[in-house]
Amino acid sequence: MTAGRGDHGPRPTVAIIGGGFAGAGLAYQLARRAPGAFRIVVFEPRDRLGCGVAYSTADPAHRINVPASRMSFVPSDPCHFDRWLKADGELKRDPAALMPDGRAFPRRAVFGRYAAETIEPFVLEGEIEHRRSAATAISRRAGGYAVRDADGQILEADMVAFAATHPTPQAPEALGALAGDPRLVVDTQNRAALDEIPTEARLLIVGTGLTMADIVASLEARGHQGQITAISRRGLLSRGHPERPGEEYGAFDRNPSRTAGALVRRIRRTIAAAAAEGRPWQHVMDAVRAQGPAIWAALPERERRTIARRLRPFWDVHRFRVAPQVEAAIARLRDTGQLTVLTGEPVAASRGAGSLSVDLRLKGGGRYYGDYDVVLLATGPAHRKLCESSPIVGSLADQGLVRLDPIGLGLEVDERSAAVGADGRTSPSLWVVGPLARATFGELMGLPEVARHAEFVASSILRSTSVADAPVDAPALAVA
Ligand SMILES: Cc1cc2nc3c(=O)[nH]c(=O)nc-3n(C[C@H](O)[C@H](O)[C@H](O)COP(=O)(O)OP(=O)(O)OC[C@H]3O[C@@H](n4cnc5c(N)ncnc54)[C@H](O)[C@@H]3O)c2cc1C
Repeated sequence: MTAGRGDHGPRPTVAIIGGGFAGAGLAYQLARRAPGAFRIVVFEPRDRLGCGVAYSTADPAHRINVPASRMSFVPSDPCHFDRWLKADGELKRDPAALMPDGRAFPRRAVFGRYAAETIEPFVLEGEIEHRRSAATAISRRAGGYAVRDADGQILEADMVAFAATHPTPQAPEALGALAGDPRLVVDTQNRAALDEIPTEARLLIVGTGLTMADIVASLEARGHQGQITAISRRGLLSRGHPERPGEEYGAFDRNPSRTAGALVRRIRRTIAAAAAEGRPWQHVMDAVRAQGPAIWAALPERERRTIARRLRPFWDVHRFRVAPQVEAAIARLRDTGQLTVLTGEPVAASRGAGSLSVDLRLKGGGRYYGDYDVVLLATGPAHRKLCESSPIVGSLADQGLVRLDPIGLGLEVDERSAAVGADGRTSPSLWVVGPLARATFGELMGLPEVARHAEFVASSILRSTSVADAPVDAPALAVA
């Protein structure tokens, strides 16, 4: 398949499944860098492109957890969002977003509005088609794919880019007896679900990472009075940002470590060296994150598995930080004793007429039987059981078009981010965009990495189709 700008033949059709941040980012890159070369159709049931699970939230307590100066839809223009934010006037409407040192942590909904407004001109011009419908099946056809959507429409596509990243959270088996009970809240990003919780309710939150942080900040903003217990296997909470921003510290991409153990020791040594210079550990972890692709590429599969299985929870809490406003809310509730964080896991649950009973096994072997009015799931999207939690991935796997990666982080892709099928062969026309490709590329969940990955996949698609790649200037601001 070859196409170029100015061709008079039919344009290749690219179907992008999922128009959250990664899918919209890819559409944007293709539309900007090869105007008119493709028919770009994005399947996304949400009203707006670019927002996805993270930035569709309407809850004002949900804030971005990376300063605005590092969040951009356009990797070639890292300050794109920061400028938009200042021009938009949001910081005047929400002064709590601004830290005394100038860093801004606005509401996630505001970032969603920015992403949607950035891509909107391309939708209005017809460069990108937004199908407001979920893709329900993708099947191989001669020379391409047939994508069926929830409205029964079928699109014939030459290429598919898969970006339906975050599958629905799944309750742990121990909570199976609570399935279907309205007092078990599975989708905690849904503001209405939290609105319905009575102020005095006793709550159990399963999970202590960023989703728990979101929930606690929302509850505090609502004036929740009831006792809150949060539990996770390691009892680790996402850490905060340093008091003052600074440069990354450490060179992990030079002569990179070959084992997980050596990497950890090197990070510890570097943190100690940074501390001796009066610099916080966050600057070291920022360097690890920035150099993530080189670090990951140097590790054999066995070591990557070790990191994914044993070290990931520690990495997650140091790398995914909470916004200062959210960190303060958690500290306030812990200080007053309203929020208790336990290390352990639920092992059984039952429903009573008045409350839900959950049996918790604590680290060290202790047991804790608690009665709760509401149990909230904060374990995050169910990536580990991708084929079950995402029917469309299950259907692609059943047809042998994709397979799970050997590390258990998502889908197996090659170095161009093309999907690897059940037979181990790389597809020439099925791409994976965003966090599901992280087993190959390493850290790929945070927004800056996802934006760069969308740009990278666009380059892979352009190369594979021999479409000329037009270098583009930094885009104009999306605000009027
Ligand atoms: C709650 C949350 C908060 C976060 N906050 C931050 C932050 O503050 N800073 C940061 O750097 N990173 C943050 N992240 C990480 C990062 O920004 C996201 O992981 C990133 O948005 C991933 O983009 P994505 O497009 O891959 O997934 P998403 O943006 O979730 O997009 C996936 C899209 O696929 C759609 N979809 C699903 N199934 C189908 C289907 N069958 N057909 C069509 N469409 C489908 C969904 O509707 C969704 O819109 C956060 C992540 C989460 C989950």
